[in-house]
Amino acid sequence: MGVSIEIYRLRIGSHNNFVQARQSMNQMKGKFWNHMLVMFYLEIFYLPCLKNLVTRIESNNEVCMWYTQMVSYHVYVPLLLRLANDVEENPGPINIYDIVDHSFTVRADFNQGNISMFGINAGKQCVAMSIYAIVYNEIKSVNIWDTALMNMLLVNANNLYAIISQHIQKDFLLLTDVLEILSINNDTFNLEYSDSFSGALWMKYNNEPYVTLEHAFHEVFDAGNYKACLLTIRANTVAVLMPFPDVFKVFDSHSRDMHGMPAAMGYSVLVSIEGIQNLIHFFHNTNSCKFYPGQNNQNSLFELKGVKCHRNISLSNSLVNTANDTTSNNHEQQRKQQESVIEKENGLAKRKDKKQQESVVERENRLEKLREKQREKRQQESVVEWENRLAKQRERRKQAKQRETVSERENRLAKQRERRKQAKQQETVSERGNRLAKRGEKRRQAKQQETVSERENRLQNQRKARRLERQNETVEQREQRLAKVRANYKENKSRHSRKNKQSPPSGCQGLNNDNNISHNSVSQLIHKFHKSVSTGPLYICSCCDQLWYKHSVCPAERLRLSNPNSAKHLQGIKSVDNIEWLCLTCDKHLKKGKVPPSAITNGMKFPTKPDFFDLNELECRLIAPRLAFQKIMQAPRGGNLRLLVML
Ligand SMILES: [Zn+2]
Repeated sequence: MGVSIEIYRLRIGSHNNFVQARQSMNQMKGKFWNHMLVMFYLEIFYLPCLKNLVTRIESNNEVCMWYTQMVSYHVYVPLLLRLANDVEENPGPINIYDIVDHSFTVRADFNQGNISMFGINAGKQCVAMSIYAIVYNEIKSVNIWDTALMNMLLVNANNLYAIISQHIQKDFLLLTDVLEILSINNDTFNLEYSDSFSGALWMKYNNEPYVTLEHAFHEVFDAGNYKACLLTIRANTVAVLMPFPDVFKVFDSHSRDMHGMPAAMGYSVLVSIEGIQNLIHFFHNTNSCKFYPGQNNQNSLFELKGVKCHRNISLSNSLVNTANDTTSNNHEQQRKQQESVIEKENGLAKRKDKKQQESVVERENRLEKLREKQREKRQQESVVEWENRLAKQRERRKQAKQRETVSERENRLAKQRERRKQAKQQETVSERGNRLAKRGEKRRQAKQQETVSERENRLQNQRKARRLERQNETVEQREQRLAKVRANYKENKSRHSRKNKQSPPSGCQGLNNDNNISHNSVSQLIHKFHKSVSTGPLYICSCCDQLWYKHSVCPAERLRLSNPNSAKHLQGIKSVDNIEWLCLTCDKHLKKGKVPPSAITNGMKFPTKPDFFDLNELECRLIAPRLAFQKIMQAPRGGNLRLLVML
């Protein structure tokens, strides 16, 4: 009896494997059918549904896209085009943000309505503050104001308001009540006002005696040559300053935001605006009816008055400082001041009339007297005063230069040149010597300090100028110049030879010198050779049409000047540097009045190469007038091999 196969497999240790294989086969059988079922489901039901759905979404999207494109082409684009064409005719309302750049706006820390600062005066001082701003512009340019200065300005202007309102016994100042003279920090200023312009803010055309705002601005700033004005719209007064042509600064002491728009908790601001049109839009924006409910736009009236402000030096010390001396409540004194001011004003006006009526001689006399006075004053002034005066003068000149137009600048420079020329004509020999010595010294210093590139630039400019000068000079001038050069050369040469004679070479040193000289001359010669062949034969002779190196040609211009008859042999061919060159051989013949042997006019023109003559190397050889043969042969005597060349 043998053992069963299972027991046998157990014994040899492979039973377990067998069993596991069978079990897994069984499991696989079940799973396989499961998989088949799932795949069947997917194939028959799920995938067709999914496909259907996706197709539907895609087609939907496509429809959407077509619809959008249709709308875009038929509705949106035509509308856009129509709108684009309409821009010029109908630009729409201009926004305050387009007019005012708030980064240029300067503000104070409070506004005129601040009760804790100004007490009972609060909210009424705009006229005084605007005037004060205009005058203060004379002390410190409105372009460099900052917050601290604005704060100081508001406080001082409030004091000014207190004095004026006390004096005229009114709460609200009108433009008719404004000052004619004002003193700030020991400087007295005369104020001069233009006629008053008034009208409605939204008016489009002048309707005498009422004018549009634009007309008023043009009258004051352009025609009247005023640099500042007071503008009252409804009951609010602002100062408009023009520090540069067509650049305006609006000083508004009311409660405003950084764009100059009315704001509840705002500050006094200084707004910067460019152009009169923008200025008008600014006032339209800031005074539009939405800020003033219950008021009609038609009622917004304005009044505008140009203001000129002059520093009055003679009055500066005589008047008490009205702005700083606010504690004094002495009415009598103030009235006296005002009266004296009026008298002075009258005096000024009279003087102005007189000036207009005086003749030329009177005018000259008056000016001469003034000059005399000034001279005396200057002789008496101290060093500090002198320096101050010069500094002021410089400052004034600088400002004038910044303000001047191109034509004014040219006029000024032309006058300067004329004056210098006259001064040069009148100066004595010693003065001239001094001037030239100074100039030479200055130039020498400049040369020592200049960099390599600067030096090169300078030399190049010099060369260019010289070339220009030579092109323009006449024959006589040229001869004079050359004679001078020749004389200088001769003088230098004779000086050099004299020096050599005075210090003859002696002994060993002399030998060394000789060696040095020969060495130098060899290196110089090599250098010269390299220099002369560095450019290549690029120079075309205008007479014989041959190519030459630089050292074999000279400019043909010389010959044209010295020997105009020979110029008929020149062909006018320009080559390097756009200059007409002439080879030295042709030059030599032409100078003697002879026809150069190789000149084109001598029938030596190189014929033009015909088209059919485009041959290759072999063809050239075949038709060449000379054929080169080489052969090696034994010498008749001695039997050596020799090279025989026949041409
Ligand atoms: Zn030539």
